[in-house]
Amino acid sequence: MTAPTFPPRVFSGIKPSGGLTLGNYLGAIKPWVGMQGPSYQTIYCVVDLHAITVWQEPAELADGTREIAAGMLAAGIDPEKSILFNQARVPEHTQLAWIFNCVARVGWMNRMTQFKDKAGENAEAVSLGLYAYPSLMAADILLYHATHVPVGEDQKQHVELTRDIAAKFNHDFGREFFPLTEAVIEGPGMRIMNLRDGTKKMSKSGESDMERINMLDDADTIAKKFKKAKSDPEPLPEEVSALAGRPEAKNLVAIYASLSDQSTEAVLAEFGGEGWGKFKPALADLAVEKLAPISGEMRRLMDDKAEIDSMLERGAERAREIARPILRETYEIVGLQYS
Ligand code: ATP
Ligand code: MG
Repeated sequence: MTAPTFPPRVFSGIKPSGGLTLGNYLGAIKPWVGMQGPSYQTIYCVVDLHAITVWQEPAELADGTREIAAGMLAAGIDPEKSILFNQARVPEHTQLAWIFNCVARVGWMNRMTQFKDKAGENAEAVSLGLYAYPSLMAADILLYHATHVPVGEDQKQHVELTRDIAAKFNHDFGREFFPLTEAVIEGPGMRIMNLRDGTKKMSKSGESDMERINMLDDADTIAKKFKKAKSDPEPLPEEVSALAGRPEAKNLVAIYASLSDQSTEAVLAEFGGEGWGKFKPALADLAVEKLAPISGEMRRLMDDKAEIDSMLERGAERAREIARPILRETYEIVGLQYS
């Protein structure tokens, strides 16, 4: 068995499939920032190869990648403390993904709810890449022998599939080579819902701009979106249990809790009994207070494309130093010749 990495290794990524949303920030980037430090070795990636599983305009993709990287940096990912790069610069991801395509079973892929949601009625016409996506995600993680993957709740099933792939590989080849990675899914920000429909998650690729808060939205837009966000006729409850069956109310309270680093209980202790006319403006003010410094810094960073590109290139070199020996050993285990 390959010696377990110490400190434990964290890997996670975001696709440049649109601008960053509040869901990406609260469910992913904010927890990533918190994991930087001596307890973990942190590796964060702009997963551009995942983005092209659905059509991306070639002329816009590189800027999309830079925008996601700028968002991560502006929110506090430190390229000295973490390895930050874009996936396409490290070809070992796709090399390992091919091996995993030959380990994963079609029946496993058929159970992936994200594929069903994204393919919708159109499953015959979507790309093969969209179907194979979880196998590339398993490669992203296991190429670094990552032990922890901080993600939003929507990615839980893909991390479980990653464990299944690791376990089958280890079993088939008789080697305890890949770790059984754990998803880290915590806090009220793990599943931020669509502002117009509290039963669907907020997504950067969602149809309407009004259903999400973008990291680059200005203060007026944020206030307008929360004002128009779907709620319900009841005031906020005093008890968390009373949010059951009220998906929109639950979501708005969760956003407040996550942005203010409080528990849902603490938010309801403050606002329980109040109406939306009081809560929504307070939520908008809080979101602006937290997001404005990040979006300002993001814009500043995005002005210097060359600087972002060279930072991503340096990150990719560091990532490849870890990835190459693991891919080489994988090839050896499989019996492939490699030069
Ligand atoms: P797309 O619509 O293109 O799938 P997305 O907004 O779902 O975009 P991803 O790049 O797929 O973003 O996911 C990046 C990270 O953000 C993942 O860790 C994912 O779990 C997290 N995330 C995405 N949406 C949410 C959400 N609504 N709430 C919490 N976390 C989220
Ligand atoms: Mg997604």
